[in-house]
Amino acid sequence: MKFVARLFLSIVLISFLVSFSLVEGGVFICKGPSSAVYHKSDRCKGLSKCSTQVFEITLAEAKKLGRRACKIEYR
Ligand SMILES: [Zn+2]
Repeated sequence: MKFVARLFLSIVLISFLVSFSLVEGGVFICKGPSSAVYHKSDRCKGLSKCSTQVFEITLAEAKKLGRRACKIEYR
């Protein structure tokens, strides 16, 4: 019974996150050791030297990770 409740909870959580990111629109981050910003576009110049995969997350998540706005795109 506990497992079912957990499963149900994670489905609710996932659908919430998905709808949330649809409303908010994602930002893009690089997970390399020197990256500290988030990007509006995955084609930003700042991401071209990214050594890892580029991940799309929500703006709220980016801020939670302590990311600053990209200087090239957000002026
Ligand atoms: Zn950028």
